[in-house]
Amino acid sequence: MAYFENDKVIIYRGIFMENKKKLIIIASAIGAAIVAAVLILVLVCFHSWNDATCDAPMTCDKCGKTKGESLQHEWIEATCKEAKHCMLCGLTDGDPLAHTWIEATCETAKTCSVCSTVEGDPIGHAVKDWKITKETSCSAEGERTGTCDRCKKECVEKIEKLPHTKSDWQIKKDFIINSDGTVTAGTEAIVCVVCKAELETREYTTELTISQKNAAICAYDEINFWHCGPDFLIHTVLADFEDYPVADAKFVVAHMSMDWDEQAILYARDNAEGSSRANLVDEMTHYGFTKAQIDKALKEVGY
Ligand SMILES: [Zn+2]
Ligand SMILES: [Zn+2]
Ligand SMILES: [Zn+2]
Ligand SMILES: [Zn+2]
Ligand SMILES: [Zn+2]
Repeated sequence: MAYFENDKVIIYRGIFMENKKKLIIIASAIGAAIVAAVLILVLVCFHSWNDATCDAPMTCDKCGKTKGESLQHEWIEATCKEAKHCMLCGLTDGDPLAHTWIEATCETAKTCSVCSTVEGDPIGHAVKDWKITKETSCSAEGERTGTCDRCKKECVEKIEKLPHTKSDWQIKKDFIINSDGTVTAGTEAIVCVVCKAELETREYTTELTISQKNAAICAYDEINFWHCGPDFLIHTVLADFEDYPVADAKFVVAHMSMDWDEQAILYARDNAEGSSRANLVDEMTHYGFTKAQIDKALKEVGY
């Protein structure tokens, strides 16, 4: 029995020794592969190439390795405006060309015939003898003509308007004194005494004294009763009956908003009945109406 058992042990040991050798070989192979992979990762560069330029070929920006050749400059020839330069890298060579100038004339400035660059201004025509062809005034430009001594062109030139001749302030629209003693402003203007153009305007008004204000209220009130002309209203009604100073009465009546022709007609209508034409004329003359106002009013009522 023991003998057999020993044989078995020997056989098993043999098998075990065989397998151990194999395992060692496999483990060594795996170790070598790992070492190789690590070495590859550490030592080999995965290049990152930059494009080639005029100065350098394709270059890896990690390891600096290069590939191929650098580019050739692509030259653009010089012009008046730019020097000879590489269209790829912008490198310049020399200076821009000189302009090819055409000298200035009466009407055109100095100009480069190649690139059209302009320098300075035209010289302007040289006319010695001008002839006035249209007189100038403050309202219209004048005109003169003449021949240019340089280019022989017939030149026409405007002559600026003359300045206006200012008037003093003039009343354009008088202020009005109203029936409640208030004042509605008018306007006054400075005009040109030559062409009559209006040059400046401003409000034109006045501040009434208490006497003027009351005279105005009184005048509007009385006119409905009297239907009279301005002189009768000033002297008889306001000055004599109401005792206002004549100056205030004159001032107020001159600025009332009143149609005196209409007042004459109202008078005639109120008084025509039973009255001769001659009598009406006498009365209306007394009440301060003019001959024209009386004639017109009498015509209205049939005389
Ligand atoms: Zn690289
Ligand atoms: Zn270049
Ligand atoms: Zn040029
Ligand atoms: Zn000219
Ligand atoms: Zn004028």
